[in-house]
Amino acid sequence: MAPHGGKSLPFLEAALPPFTVLNVLTMGASKGTPPYVNICEYKGWIMTDFMNTYHRLPVTFTRGEGAYLFDEAGKRYLDFTSGIGVNCLGHAYPALVQALSEQSAACIHVSNYFQSAVAKRFARKLVEACSGAGMKSVFLGNSGAEANECACKIARKYSLKKYGPGRHVIVTLRGSFHGRTVTMLSATGQDKFHKDFGPFTEGFIYAPPGDIPALDRALDNTVAGLLIEPVQGENGVRAQDAAYLEAAARFCAERDILLMFDEIQCGVGRTGSFLACEGFGIKPDVVTLAKALSGGVPVGAALAGEKAADVFAVGDHASTFGGNLLAAAAGLVVLETVHNAAFLKDITRKGDMIRDIIRSWNKPSVKDIRGKGLMIGIDIERDAWDVLETALEKGLLLLTAGAKTVRFLPPYTIRDEEIESGLRILRELV
Ligand code: PLP
Repeated sequence: MAPHGGKSLPFLEAALPPFTVLNVLTMGASKGTPPYVNICEYKGWIMTDFMNTYHRLPVTFTRGEGAYLFDEAGKRYLDFTSGIGVNCLGHAYPALVQALSEQSAACIHVSNYFQSAVAKRFARKLVEACSGAGMKSVFLGNSGAEANECACKIARKYSLKKYGPGRHVIVTLRGSFHGRTVTMLSATGQDKFHKDFGPFTEGFIYAPPGDIPALDRALDNTVAGLLIEPVQGENGVRAQDAAYLEAAARFCAERDILLMFDEIQCGVGRTGSFLACEGFGIKPDVVTLAKALSGGVPVGAALAGEKAADVFAVGDHASTFGGNLLAAAAGLVVLETVHNAAFLKDITRKGDMIRDIIRSWNKPSVKDIRGKGLMIGIDIERDAWDVLETALEKGLLLLTAGAKTVRFLPPYTIRDEEIESGLRILRELV
């Protein structure tokens, strides 16, 4: 069943129609990465038209409902991934479905040359939801990488206007992940992303997280901005140390460097406060959001506080789809639902419940439990990708965040009994 001598995957083989030939190759599995199985080689079932950028698992989803996704055969899967932190209200959330269908019937898109009531309402509501963190204005785009690009342009323009050239460096942290454009790869402090695609955008340097003296040295008079994920997602779900973030805020305020929080994964309620920075009691100058913000419709947002709210002039930045009406209509539903004290408290409660259940297993193979709210990483002894594949077979969808870290980003609307049933499956696998 593995004609090229590649790895045989019984689960995969069982999932495939019997009349076709599976050609599963194990390609260059290196330390720290999951076994890389080229399932695109499998003709006629998994589509071969895509570029080979994703390790797509052998399941085709046709619909979702709440915390569940259903495959072509009608098999039900409990979704602890939310499409990597996107479907925060679960699948087919009635108010979201209604808002999208009404908006698409009315108008899907108007260019930013014109005004739109729904986009204006979304921007107003978003700035209002982030006003506790000091935010005053927003630029809307379509993705996280784009939101971070916008943030870096804000920092550079702010610095240039005030101090002239030569003060353009953006400091980011080792282990960070900020997106896949060439500039956001420059911002990303992980060497594994830096091969094959250089030369990169200049003017990015990395500081070691948690090291206050090193940050003090890095934030010199060439620096325009400091970009930090308050809870690093891709790097194993690691919350920054509160004292480190406080020192970062102090240095930035003293030196007039823009403090920018990448909350693309940890924002919009994920950690139990609307913005993760609020949980740390810090007011950054810029916050970036994406993923959960429109509950599944592509969106990105860069918000700026007092210092930088008016830094751009007409023509400085733009995006054809930015502020798209479907994203705005969906975003309004997310904001109306999530920016609510009782709803946010329940996210914290569910996250604590997950951590308590896992701790109660007393399993020596569970080495660490990290994260805040419903953003959770657990370090295990087994290969996390193996656990993910076996969990899929058993009807549970998981994410990884490193070779030995299983990550959950379940929908905020997940029910207690669904959490318990997913964790019963996981317990047997770790
Ligand atoms: N920043 C963080 C913290 C992320 O987790 C991600 C995506 O995982 C990004 C930026 C990039 O977002 P996008 O894939 O929407 O460009």
